[in-house]
Amino acid sequence: MGDDGVDIGVDLGGTKLAAALVGADGRVSERVSRSTPQTGRDDVLDALTETVRHVRQRASKHGLVVQSVGIGTAGQIDVVRGVVLAGTTNIHDWNNVPLRDAVAAATGLTTFVDNDVPVVLQAEREFGAAQGCTDVVCLTVGTGIGGAVLTGGRLLRGAWGGAAELGHISVDKHGPVCACGFRGCLEMFASGTAVARRMAELTHGDRKWTGVEVFQAALCGDALAEQVVSEAIDALAYGVVSLIHTFNPKIMLLGGGVFSEAEWLRERLENKVHGMGIQSMVQSVHIRRVSLGTDAGLIGAARLRAMSTMNGELS
Ligand SMILES: [Zn+2]
Repeated sequence: MGDDGVDIGVDLGGTKLAAALVGADGRVSERVSRSTPQTGRDDVLDALTETVRHVRQRASKHGLVVQSVGIGTAGQIDVVRGVVLAGTTNIHDWNNVPLRDAVAAATGLTTFVDNDVPVVLQAEREFGAAQGCTDVVCLTVGTGIGGAVLTGGRLLRGAWGGAAELGHISVDKHGPVCACGFRGCLEMFASGTAVARRMAELTHGDRKWTGVEVFQAALCGDALAEQVVSEAIDALAYGVVSLIHTFNPKIMLLGGGVFSEAEWLRERLENKVHGMGIQSMVQSVHIRRVSLGTDAGLIGAARLRAMSTMNGELS
């Protein structure tokens, strides 16, 4: 696996906790996963450290030395201190958690913590759809919308790591109020949750919809579903063009549950985006889907150690 040893990558979600060994070449092995305890921070931290120990034991069986643990997780993360300021609401009591120090103390391993979207972007930049590219904007569209920005080869961090909340840029000042407190957020129009909610509105609550079902129905020719999807793509296009105007990326990377399998959605968004905005900027952008699938979260997390050196951060 290279001279660099191996690192443990952890993808900590609201429902699932996954970990694996990752080599310097991005190769993933010894994957383990379990459900995330819903009973509060102590149980989550216990589950996490137990999982890390388990993967580390498997590494030592193969004679591999683990260099670090990297954790990618949702929410606002202070990447300098490794603290989850406001994490996923699925985990009870998961705000102001000193995750880096807790895991480092429990495992004795150097630990890194980052938001799950920069983690995906790092993995795709090193081994996936944005390989070798220095200017990338990543949008993950799923239950919510997350973002990350790579500019001049460096992740855009802001003052403490909170930059690139791209799901919460407004695309409509008259739009609905978002859970974040702002109005007309992109997430309110284009996330899987928003699409399901809009479909329920248009069908007067006849039945419950999931985002995936609405996209499927649109693909099968359902007129109302098509209207909902068309509105979502429209909102996304305004968001994407604003991001292109702001960051002048070479690649616009689309991930998350909504785009993971849906090439047709990417094509429709691309057609829309290419007809809008400042043409010299918009026409040169490649709009791509992520290519590493669920492994991206594990690979990117495990590579946080290497990236921190490369980016001159956190070290
Ligand atoms: Zn918002």
